[in-house]
Amino acid sequence: MNDKNKIMKAESTNKYKDKESVYLSVVIPVYNEKQNISYLYENLNNILPQIGKKYEVILVDDGSIDGTFKELLKIHEQNNNYKIIRFRKNFGQTPAMSAGFDYANGEVIITLDADLQNDPQDIPVLLEKINEGYDIVSGWRINRQDKAISRKLPSKIANWLIARLTGVKIHDYGCTLKAYTSDVIKNIELFGEMHRYIPAVASWMGINVAEVPVHHHSRKFGKSKYGISRTIRVILDIITIKYLLSYSQKPIQIFGLIGLITGTIGFIITVYLIIMRLFFNMALSSRPLFTLSIFMIFIGVQLITMGILAELIMRTYHASSGKPTYAIREIID
Ligand code: UDP
Ligand code: MG
Repeated sequence: MNDKNKIMKAESTNKYKDKESVYLSVVIPVYNEKQNISYLYENLNNILPQIGKKYEVILVDDGSIDGTFKELLKIHEQNNNYKIIRFRKNFGQTPAMSAGFDYANGEVIITLDADLQNDPQDIPVLLEKINEGYDIVSGWRINRQDKAISRKLPSKIANWLIARLTGVKIHDYGCTLKAYTSDVIKNIELFGEMHRYIPAVASWMGINVAEVPVHHHSRKFGKSKYGISRTIRVILDIITIKYLLSYSQKPIQIFGLIGLITGTIGFIITVYLIIMRLFFNMALSSRPLFTLSIFMIFIGVQLITMGILAELIMRTYHASSGKPTYAIREIID
């Protein structure tokens, strides 16, 4: 039997057995972390059985090329609470986590990194908070062990910005160690590199978020997959999230508003120039204001049209996918 068949078989047999009763699913994205895997298993195994509830660990091999998969298989062979999903190529951390969420059977889902930077010893604290009734519990690396200038500083700014813009005030969006109720995590869709902003993305449906301080260790084996170049992508991600949260249901309200403002200013300038031309005999060809006014009218029309298109797309999306525009906590009949 080749490796792939082995996994498929493992998955199909586990699925039926576990579906009802799994309490905790731990989802771990793994990309070229060969040397970390055996320690990761050891660390997890020191804590998960102690929780005393049925658990599963879903290891998502995101197209590793350093022999990580073999290490993962070894764990699966030792302990069938550990499941493996193997990607065909490197898709990125967000798709890896997304695949884990899709396969997870637990009532509670916890994510953590495979590189030993997060500490599984913190898992019980997160679970405690979930039991208090929170939908998401975010780890806060108060003693973060990463480079100061290229990682910690940009991350501080991004955290501040996204907390301001979305109203979900947590300190450490970037910490992978977080717990979610399956109800919440199964109701959001993740694209791009959105795994970092799940609490903000999920806030559309109304959630209670708690934060707990967690341990953080420096990386001992392997390399970080991210560097300073991430900063620009983060800025674009934040714009997307703000748009999705505030305007995705009413795009005309933002495009139309900016369009109306620019168009109106352009129109007023044009009227002024026409009056000057007709009654005060002023030449238009030498006035940059003339070009500007035409430009602004154009942009105004463009933006309003874009808003109308976005409205149509949004409506088509909800109508064709059957995705509701609301989220229900409970129905009392
Ligand atoms: N990772 C992944 N796919 C990628 C990049 C990273 O699955 O394309 C995994 C990686 O193996 C690790 C986690 O995501 O378990 C976090 O990555 P990393 O430690 O490089 O990020 P950092 O801690 O430096 O932010
Ligand atoms: Mg790391």
